Amino acid sequence: MVSKVAYSDIDDLTYQKLRAWAKRRHPKKNGEWVSKRYWQSIGGDNWVFATRKEGLTPLRLINHANTPIVRHVKVKGESSPYDGNLVYWSSRMGKNPEMPTRVALLLKRQKGKCTHCGLFFRENDVMEVDHTIPKSKGGKDEYKNLQLLHRHCHDTKTANDGSPGTKSGCNSAEPKPTRKLEKVADKWVMRYA
Ligand SMILES: [Zn+2]
Repeated sequence: MVSKVAYSDIDDLTYQKLRAWAKRRHPKKNGEWVSKRYWQSIGGDNWVFATRKEGLTPLRLINHANTPIVRHVKVKGESSPYDGNLVYWSSRMGKNPEMPTRVALLLKRQKGKCTHCGLFFRENDVMEVDHTIPKSKGGKDEYKNLQLLHRHCHDTKTANDGSPGTKSGCNSAEPKPTRKLEKVADKWVMRYA
């Protein structure tokens, strides 16, 4: 509310200045003439400083008070960027001490979204690395052939992409130990194969 009040003070000041300018510009005209020349009612707003030309949409001066006030939530002093929303920070920075590099890079490349369903990963989603072109179809084990998917999206995708059998067949030709990173108390869980 403080900002809204400040904005309307600025708008008052702007009006005073414009008014003085308009009167100086037309010293022989009266106040009413000047008002009609430069101000109009547009869309329920009175006293809008705007152009007036037949057949043209007026160009109008926007009031400061019409500016939506956006409050930025600051990171609290005692919390680090690495707390809490790991997915968010990893997708911003592409790396995170607690996030395996491959996953963090994929998150960043995908702007925090699962490429299968297009939805954002949330903190406690299980994410898995998938070979976009299955290895069984000649897909290579390289970064540009990798994508990060929700576990359930990965299940759907591998059921339909011609991978033989299961996801483990997609991820590697032979079973490898699955790396896991879980921190259930802080509400995020991450696993990748
Ligand atoms: Zn998904």
